[in-house]
Amino acid sequence: MKNYRSELIALFGDPVDGNPTGVMVEAAFADKGLDFRYITMKVTAENLEPAMKAVVPMNLRGLGVTMPHKVAIIPYLNELSPAAGIIGAVNTVLVREDGTLFGENTDGKGFVQALKNKGVCLEQKNVTIFGAGGAAKAIAVECALAGARSITIINRTPEKAEALAKVVGGNTPAKVSWEAWQPCHKIPEGTDILINGTSIGLHPHGDQKPDIDYDGITANMVAADVVFNPVDTGFLTEAAKRGALAVDGLGMLACQGVLGFELWTGVTPSLEVMETVLKQEFAE
Ligand code: NDP
Repeated sequence: MKNYRSELIALFGDPVDGNPTGVMVEAAFADKGLDFRYITMKVTAENLEPAMKAVVPMNLRGLGVTMPHKVAIIPYLNELSPAAGIIGAVNTVLVREDGTLFGENTDGKGFVQALKNKGVCLEQKNVTIFGAGGAAKAIAVECALAGARSITIINRTPEKAEALAKVVGGNTPAKVSWEAWQPCHKIPEGTDILINGTSIGLHPHGDQKPDIDYDGITANMVAADVVFNPVDTGFLTEAAKRGALAVDGLGMLACQGVLGFELWTGVTPSLEVMETVLKQEFAE
């Protein structure tokens, strides 16, 4: 008998209309010949509960989760990955055969994988992160779990830097410190990997860049940005000018896509297909 039913993955978020993940994931489904669909759904904060109650009855196979649900979804899940538990936020859910829900956070894992793809490993590295929001938190935790020697968190709102330092220091073996962001902030001595984990430079503010002392960047550093639109951010351009290896946010986004895809389907998708589709979307 012909099967007219596709397996469904849904993205829950609000606002979600401008989220390009579906195009990337669906291109990868097609590339692997999988009869899966990834449906972008507007789910408001007040509708999260009824939406979560519908996940198993509607036979969804998994979820992508974005703002404002990444933290609020946790009470509806049966199990979290160790990293998602430490981070306290989930962006990917697997619906298991028995109807239980497993939550993962691929933000930081995607970041670590994007670095690996550029030949950069975290072991014994000194990592400096500007920002202490959701992306910075996931990255700080995963860098520490991947063996970074030290993590320095620098944020405009110092209380958030301090709180994140406590989370990372309390749950990983890394040496953790934090600083309040100063004008033209000096890059900490010994930094190997410098990360813009803030939203500074994100479209339509592509002309902005973090207020740091760019002359402190050296050719033996790696500079990585979470911002993926535009891909070539002011931060990365300044870092590349000084010889640092630039790692863009698009690689991180595509690597996250790979991890979610693997969790939902058990199949490893083509990273190249995912990256190409994203680049096309942002070029338009
Ligand atoms: P949050 O709102 O949780 O955090 C934003 C962070 O940026 C905070 O640390 C905030 O500082 C800082 N910040 C924002 N504006 C300024 C400013 N003008 N000066 C100094 N600091 C500033 O956002 P997320 O962490 O969820 O997202 C951050 C970025 O990461 C976004 O651009 C998002 O698109 C991107 N992202 C990329 C991913 C990828 O795969 N490449 C995955 C997830 C996110 P403060 O605490 O003081 O407010």
